[in-house]
Amino acid sequence: MSEDNKNKNREWNISTRVTQLGRDPFKHFGFINTPTYRGSTVLFPTVEKLETLDQAYTYGTKGTPTTRALEEAWTKLSNAHDTVLVPSGLAAIDLALLTATRAGAHILVTDSVYQPTRSFCDTILKKFGVSVEYYDPLMGKNIADIIRPETTAILVESPGSQSMEIQDVPEISEVARNHDICVILDNTWATPLFYPPHDRGADIAIEAGTKYLSGHSDILIGLVSANQKWSKRLRSTFNSFAIGASPDDASLALRGLRTMALRLRTQEKAGIEIARWFKKQNEVAQVLHPALPDHPGHDLWKRDYLGSSGVFSVIFKPVEKKSLDAFIDSLQLFGIGFSWGGFESLVLPFDCQSYRTATQWRTVGPAVRFSIGLEDVDDLKEDLRLGLNYLSL
Ligand SMILES: *Cc1c(COP(=O)(O)O)cnc(C)c1O
Repeated sequence: MSEDNKNKNREWNISTRVTQLGRDPFKHFGFINTPTYRGSTVLFPTVEKLETLDQAYTYGTKGTPTTRALEEAWTKLSNAHDTVLVPSGLAAIDLALLTATRAGAHILVTDSVYQPTRSFCDTILKKFGVSVEYYDPLMGKNIADIIRPETTAILVESPGSQSMEIQDVPEISEVARNHDICVILDNTWATPLFYPPHDRGADIAIEAGTKYLSGHSDILIGLVSANQKWSKRLRSTFNSFAIGASPDDASLALRGLRTMALRLRTQEKAGIEIARWFKKQNEVAQVLHPALPDHPGHDLWKRDYLGSSGVFSVIFKPVEKKSLDAFIDSLQLFGIGFSWGGFESLVLPFDCQSYRTATQWRTVGPAVRFSIGLEDVDDLKEDLRLGLNYLSL
């Protein structure tokens, strides 16, 4: 690779770009990966340099070459203007919300939001005088009807956590733009590889890098990207809190980035295959996967998304809780636990009914979320097939 043609990443396809972005071997003696720089103090060679802060790095809270490498890679992947790294996906959402709200502001939050985001809104934001209103994720441009003069932000999450509603982000963003409102998108499910967040209208996008970027369930990290309009305010809020991700976690996330396209494509294919398989099973009432044609959001998904990841939900026919639990407990290849996006398949029973406020969540039977990992698809199907026997007992 010659020095001259290093910066042409943008024209390459995504699978190539994830291997190239965020590294500069000849700044590091030719080593392929950006090293892990740990540090608090950064020395200045002279008082003049100290007083003008005229160098690339000034203090550990402002970043290191390792964290900056990931920030820059993510900014390019997301077609954003800037990115900051924080220690978890939830911290990313909190930082975005604190950037786009103030005392006395009103914000609109999708009723399908990740439940811990709802907790942050209902406790911390309320405590600081922000009024939080939940809205129907399917309302699209009708969101204009509930905007107030003091509305400063609209939070969208598509697909909705667990319930998988696809939101019309371009339409909501157009309404928001006309009212100078910040659109914050939780893009964790699709990642910028399958949904370029800022091209679809988001001002600020967050990603729980804990999931598909990491890919190995061994780190927690959050990324917040912003367009030009919002990046200065985002960076300034970030600097005030000084809640950066560690260089070690950034380094593991950069390692995850190299295989992210490969893993996502494999998990997409396996996810669709298993979702289709579930649809054919007697015990299943409904499969909530946006890439399946009978999903209510399928047309929007097809219009706006470049792919689907390996997470989807299944609604079973009514069955006793102990049978459902026995089914889940019997699975050999699906871990029971929170989060997703790693190499190991995961399963999680859920019920959004208790905390929804703007919409009702009603299903004929119990709901279960699956995150498909990197195991052999036939093995996964066989494990599920044997497990389903517990549902027909
Ligand atoms: C997991 C998740 C988060 C939070 O990420 P953490 O790193 O676990 O804090 C945020 N949003 C969505 C949609 C998630 O699934």
